[in-house]
Amino acid sequence: MRFTVAIDGPAAAGKGTIGRALAARFGFAHLDTGLLYRAVGALGGDPVAAARGLRAADLARDDLRSLAAGQAASVVAVIPEVRAALVAFQRRFARAEGGAVLDGRDIGTVICPEAEVKLYVTASAEVRAHRRWLEVGGDAARVLAEVVERDTRDMGRAEAPLRAAVDAVVIDTSELPIEAAVAAAVALVEARL
Ligand code: C5P
Repeated sequence: MRFTVAIDGPAAAGKGTIGRALAARFGFAHLDTGLLYRAVGALGGDPVAAARGLRAADLARDDLRSLAAGQAASVVAVIPEVRAALVAFQRRFARAEGGAVLDGRDIGTVICPEAEVKLYVTASAEVRAHRRWLEVGGDAARVLAEVVERDTRDMGRAEAPLRAAVDAVVIDTSELPIEAAVAAAVALVEARL
């Protein structure tokens, strides 16, 4: 069975939590595609060469979750050749036998427009920055500024900008408890299976 759930949205909206919950519930494989861009940014050097030579071990680094790694990811993610180098792997993952959930910025629009279920998970910048601050600490105003800066870059780039696919279901988690967001996503997948 081939079945793809595409989850897009800005940082800290709840994509990862929903993606992991769907994967566990339905036995699908899960790919956090942000990790690919984070790994390319963290490798340094020529980002195009880094993307073309990316290996599984590069995704296992323990420094990929930091704010700095997120910023570096969004800087290399504007480069068309970097994105192009990562497409085939993501498409194979999405259409592999057994079902897959991918979360990122361009899954429903570019990587897998044929996905059976498309979600766009979002929340206000303030709510998302607060969640990120609970994880990373530090200066709350700076965390908010970085979230807004990354949103602006991800939504404003020419290649595969962050936006909801026309046929995506929007889940706004600003005031919705994460359990309710997961339940809504589970219901959408069940309805399509
Ligand atoms: O989701 P995460 O915060 O880990 O993503 C880090 C950055 O990687 C994003 O801000 C975005 O610039 C880039 N990204 C992307 N396309 C994806 C996933 C992530 O451009 N599918």
